[in-house]
Amino acid sequence: MSPNIRSFVRDLAGDLLYATGITQPSKRIKDHPFSIVTFHRVLPAELLKSYPINGIAVTPSEFEWFVKLFKKHFICGTLSENFARWQAGEVTERPLLSITFDDGQLDNFVYAQPILKAAKIPATFFAVTNGVEYNETLWYDRLAYAAVKAGKSPVNIVEQAKTLSVGERLNLVQKFEQEVGGLARPDWDGMMNWQQLAELAEYGHEIGCHSMTHPILPLCNDTSLQDEIVLSRKILQENLNTPITSFCYPNGDADQRIINLVEEAGYTKAVTTKWGQNNNSNSPFTLKRFDIQGKTSRSRLGDLSESRLAWRLSPYFPKRM
Ligand SMILES: [Zn+2]
Repeated sequence: MSPNIRSFVRDLAGDLLYATGITQPSKRIKDHPFSIVTFHRVLPAELLKSYPINGIAVTPSEFEWFVKLFKKHFICGTLSENFARWQAGEVTERPLLSITFDDGQLDNFVYAQPILKAAKIPATFFAVTNGVEYNETLWYDRLAYAAVKAGKSPVNIVEQAKTLSVGERLNLVQKFEQEVGGLARPDWDGMMNWQQLAELAEYGHEIGCHSMTHPILPLCNDTSLQDEIVLSRKILQENLNTPITSFCYPNGDADQRIINLVEEAGYTKAVTTKWGQNNNSNSPFTLKRFDIQGKTSRSRLGDLSESRLAWRLSPYFPKRM
């Protein structure tokens, strides 16, 4: 099938499924599903141009559109609030959905927070404690910015780096940065600080833990896992004076050793990057999420499509589309 025909068929299928009702969230309420959506960055178009991993970014107007539709079709609440309702088997008017943000980027506070405030929707923000404490750019962003400056493909280099040991990965980041004359992050970029996280918590949002340095956890030794999972939680709790009960595995990577430690550390749930909605058979420590992007929610004509988003958030969406 040519790409044009394929996108036509895809739009048509999305519209038909929506018209029959099977992809409409309200029609699935008897299954008692719990949907969690993932965002990373919310960047205006002019900043998005200089952000190398733009597949994990949406614009403020796209985000506003998503929030409006989530509010229309779901009961939106923080991960902890909706998780409690879901676990209790609470019967709700619409299905449950929680908006989550990974990484604690400053753009979340500047561009997403006002939109959530206007819509009166609380979300969950997963912070990386060294990012908060030292305004330390996460390793994958450092590597991507430096790779672009060095004329290399940032996405491929970041993907390859995820397979390296912690030490090898840091060496690679430093090698690239030396090559291009130091930290290549633009001035507008940065991480949220303690004050901003405290403000989010004050507005009713939840702060969750996303480790101390955003490593690939299964590649870490037991000693560093204590810092990444246990100490990071303690630091967040002490600085924000609020219980931290949700964990997010960096890059979604976890094995049984990691899952056990997260549970022992006192978290009550953890999210992965595994695609899909949660049903009663899901373990609280391997919750699935839907990664949300602007481009995959658009029709072939380029407009954001309600039927397409509803299809993507349904169990009927084929992974390869
Ligand atoms: Zn992350």
